[in-house]
Amino acid sequence: MPDKSTTSDDAASTQASATPETPAVARKIYAVVKYGDPILEKPTKPVVQFDDQLAELAEDMFATMYAAQGIGLAAPQIGKSIRMTVVDVTGGKNPEAKIVLVNPQLVHAEGEKREEEGCLSIPGFRGYVVRPQFVTVRAQDLKGQSFEIRGEDLLARAFCHEIDHLDGILFLQHLSMLKRDLIKRKIKKLKKQGEW
Ligand SMILES: [Zn+2]
Repeated sequence: MPDKSTTSDDAASTQASATPETPAVARKIYAVVKYGDPILEKPTKPVVQFDDQLAELAEDMFATMYAAQGIGLAAPQIGKSIRMTVVDVTGGKNPEAKIVLVNPQLVHAEGEKREEEGCLSIPGFRGYVVRPQFVTVRAQDLKGQSFEIRGEDLLARAFCHEIDHLDGILFLQHLSMLKRDLIKRKIKKLKKQGEW
């Protein structure tokens, strides 16, 4: 299991209190922005307002991510160029695993792991990406409280992938030029056929 620091538990509890138990509330499911939309390749703006609207948006992002069967979703992927991302490597199986990162920064990285990776904005395509095996991320929660969280293996990969999104970087940029061009060509073809 990914190692979460004690501060992450604080983050999880403030997160829970920010969104009261109201299962009847229908969440907004956003359309996930696909590769080709310039918003995905543009660095995001820091979040400065930590209000109810932000908490609502985070819950809608979780709902959108679960609907798309992803384990991470960054705000630009729903058309919002702000520095926020949600991650849940259990895919909704464990409510405690829900992580919201507002204004995250990678503060430490260690080791290397090469695994296959995909992206909800680039559906149908995967590629091997080398990521750190362990990372420490500093971020704010939905109340603006700073915390640090550590991630290992898949969680570390998810943090790196999502923080990349917030910097306007897609996993394609970590692939070999050959592989990247192959995927880009295939997407171009799909676009021509109106299937993208
Ligand atoms: Zn992605």
